[in-house]
Amino acid sequence: MSTAGPSQGANCVPSGGSAAAAAASVGAHPPAALRTAGLSKQFGAFKAASDVTLAFPQGARHALIGPNGAGKTTLINLLTGALAPTSGDVFLGDDRITAFPQHQRVKLGMTRTFQINTLFAGLTVLESVVLAVCERKGRAGVWHRTVAKERDETAEALALLDLLRLAAEANELTRNLPYGKQRLVEIALALATRPRILLLDEPAAGIPAAESADLFGVIAALPRDVTILFIEHDMELVFRFAERITVLVGGKVLVEGTPAEIAADPRVREVYLGEAQHG
Ligand code: ADP
Ligand code: MG
Repeated sequence: MSTAGPSQGANCVPSGGSAAAAAASVGAHPPAALRTAGLSKQFGAFKAASDVTLAFPQGARHALIGPNGAGKTTLINLLTGALAPTSGDVFLGDDRITAFPQHQRVKLGMTRTFQINTLFAGLTVLESVVLAVCERKGRAGVWHRTVAKERDETAEALALLDLLRLAAEANELTRNLPYGKQRLVEIALALATRPRILLLDEPAAGIPAAESADLFGVIAALPRDVTILFIEHDMELVFRFAERITVLVGGKVLVEGTPAEIAADPRVREVYLGEAQHG
């Protein structure tokens, strides 16, 4: 198993230095951090994902958009292993992970956000993130006895809270935070697994508009050695924070490109105008 990587080491918060070097060497194709090859998923006769081939280079800030029912969540579920594909493959770096269970994909560095459950909601922000760090280290069973003494884990959790601009809320109960901040706690819990790839399915859903731009600002500013793929239906947020966009329609990739290319694409406009007329 290959565990070598820039985030391996004592410090949980990865530095952005190597990403800047990687970004400077444009021209050559860097190996994809994550890619799919001919990925398909059928539910009975219905094709929710159809021959999806995509590649996400390290450091990507990539949005997945498309009308309701386009297959966006299905694709994320195929990536995380929540669903098994009918055909096709998923590669994490050089590893073909198509048949890997979810927990093994997390160990290899691909994580999605988790909804804060009732247990986490009863903890403070800091306790929640310390628990997640301990869980990564296989020490979740003892956290409640030793949480105050887990200095390394606490330092790592505090660094994560800093990164997510949650330091001021460290000792608040998570359930008392505004929804936008709770979503940031969920992202902190995901980052505690030290992912190379972070998958976000509508992170701003259910959050007041005033908080969602802040949320995306924090997400976009995460270190570049975390590759981010997100689903978002608010086009203003998509065009502000995505560096590349894939449009899915009917389980198929309609087009992929930069925000400018997508905004100018008549096929994309047609899809969204059609949706507006029916919606
Ligand atoms: P999106 O996230 O783009 O709105 P989804 O991936 O959730 O779309 O769904 C794509 C299509 O697949 C929808 O028509 C949905 O009804 C169908 N679908 C999703 N999950 C299942 C399932 N477990 N069984 C049957 N149909 C499903
Ligand atoms: Mg969805």
